[in-house]
Amino acid sequence: MSDKHYSFFGAVEKSFDKAAKFTKWDPGILEQIKACNAIYSMRFPVKRDDGTIDVIEAYRVQHSHHKAPCKGGIRFAAEVNQDEVMALAALMTYKCAIVNVPFGGGKGGIKINPREYSPFELEKITRRYTSELIKKKFIGPGTDVPAPDYGTGEREMAWILDTYTTMHPGEIDAAGCVTGKPVSQGGVRGRREATGLGVFFGLREVCNMPEVMERLGMTVGVEGKKIVVQGLGNVGYHTAKFFQDAGALIVGLAEYEGAIYDENGLDVDEVFNHRKTSGSILNFRTATNLANNTDALEQECDILIPAALENVINVKNAPNVKAKIVGEAANGPLTPEADEILTAKGIIVVPDMYLNAGGVTVSYFEWLKNLSHVRYGRMEKRFNENMNAHIVTQMEGLSGKKMGLKEKEYIVHGADEVDLVYSGLEETMVTATREIMNEWKNDPSIPDMRTAAYVVAINKVATSYAELGIFP
Ligand code: GLU
Repeated sequence: MSDKHYSFFGAVEKSFDKAAKFTKWDPGILEQIKACNAIYSMRFPVKRDDGTIDVIEAYRVQHSHHKAPCKGGIRFAAEVNQDEVMALAALMTYKCAIVNVPFGGGKGGIKINPREYSPFELEKITRRYTSELIKKKFIGPGTDVPAPDYGTGEREMAWILDTYTTMHPGEIDAAGCVTGKPVSQGGVRGRREATGLGVFFGLREVCNMPEVMERLGMTVGVEGKKIVVQGLGNVGYHTAKFFQDAGALIVGLAEYEGAIYDENGLDVDEVFNHRKTSGSILNFRTATNLANNTDALEQECDILIPAALENVINVKNAPNVKAKIVGEAANGPLTPEADEILTAKGIIVVPDMYLNAGGVTVSYFEWLKNLSHVRYGRMEKRFNENMNAHIVTQMEGLSGKKMGLKEKEYIVHGADEVDLVYSGLEETMVTATREIMNEWKNDPSIPDMRTAAYVVAINKVATSYAELGIFP
């Protein structure tokens, strides 16, 4: 058996249709939600450092306009194509709806392998791409707000911001034209690790649900759980790190040159540094080497977290997956067939479009910060600290006992920006997980968590369209 060939967008549509049956919306509304509203496909030249000229293929897709601005990352990858960007933009629509982030879905892609370009060439490509977006009004704090994705990060976002602000002098909210910026350029503290932290909060909430864990034959909580993470990029690294800090055992890690496994647990930072110095994840201490990075997906563990690219779990390896929970940190890591195989095996697949929503959630906080022009915590931090210190002094006076220094520090501490961002993210992911699980529980005919998540998303987007008055 092999995977049926669906385009990635086709696979997203298939999941949507499967869930739409559990809703009562007019077929016209459902069709409007599914469609990509605007697709901008572009080609532009860039002069390489050696004087030759490359013609660059790039896209920006706005999947939905029921809320403004559109929101979604920009990826740099050799595999980028229109279908993929459309699928990823659609996932952004559903993702934002589930976590109550008031944006439409969008996504951008530039078809290049960033490792084959110098920083100067990448800067020229990024700035030219931004200019193309400006020309067609496909970027702006109120229209469409890009962010990092696979192959891009703070550096690229700073180039986008600089190009945009140069061409919009005096636009007071210009910093909100892109998120995932360096903090010095209007970024928010906590954005870098946000997706990984969101993946952790989402999976921790699933692990804290006694009825779910009982069904899987597992103990409640993440402590002691065996975890395999595929991909040690921004998302994979932080996910693994937050699980390790919470007392889970990271037994397997994979990068594109191969994978390593150690049932006694791997230290994430040590592995990360080993890869940096030796150039490979392999040959780490006493860990077992696995020749292919996809071998990691078939190892013994409780939770498997694919955190790299799409379609890594397919009909070939899905039957060999031993985990009880698969957390989709990447976008689209399962083919539709693999999804069905895992569900039939009783595995819970925690779906991408909500589980990796931490990035866009904190992007939302960053955008709000840019529009309000003030750092989170600036106004209330000292006030709270003074108030807390006063309460502690009163308590000590009344009880006649001195509080320990550590406890005192903890209680007195006023919230910094990063504390507030983490707290907002935790609230968002916990609420979304409960909402999806409740939807699933209330309608036992819903076959899996992905379908339940889509039902939640469809209901929210459809309500929003209906309330816009487009479909009276
Ligand atoms: N690229 C990330 C995603 O797929 C973040 C998008 C954003 O922050 O707008 O969700």
